[in-house]
Amino acid sequence: MKPPREPELELRGRLIRSLGSLREMLPGSFVERQRACGRPNCHCADGKRLHSQYQISVLMDGKPKALNIPAELAEKVRQKIEMRRRFDAAAATICGVNLKRFLKEKEDRQV
Ligand SMILES: [Zn+2]
Repeated sequence: MKPPREPELELRGRLIRSLGSLREMLPGSFVERQRACGRPNCHCADGKRLHSQYQISVLMDGKPKALNIPAELAEKVRQKIEMRRRFDAAAATICGVNLKRFLKEKEDRQV
C-alpha cells in the first residue's frame, strides 16, 4: 500500500534537489551603468552612445563594494546572481513548509 501523498513534502524534496544546480550562485546585485571612456575620438564622446559597464554590487566584510565585471562575463555573472534569488526563494518555501509541520506537530501533542 502506498502512503498518502504529501504534496508539501514532494515540493520540499523537489526544491532541495534543485539546489545543487544553483551551486555557482553569486551574492549581491547586478548593476549595469552607462559611462564615457574618455577617449576624445570614441563614439561615446557625444555623451549619448555610452559604453555599458557591468558591476556586482556586494558587501565584502560588511563594506559595500562595486566590482567590475568584464563584458564577456556579464551574462554569466547576471545568471549566477539570479541563482541566489532562486536559492533564497527555495529556502523561504522550505522553511514555510517546515514551520507549518512544526505547528501541526505541536498541535497534535496538545490533543
Ligand atoms: Zn568610448
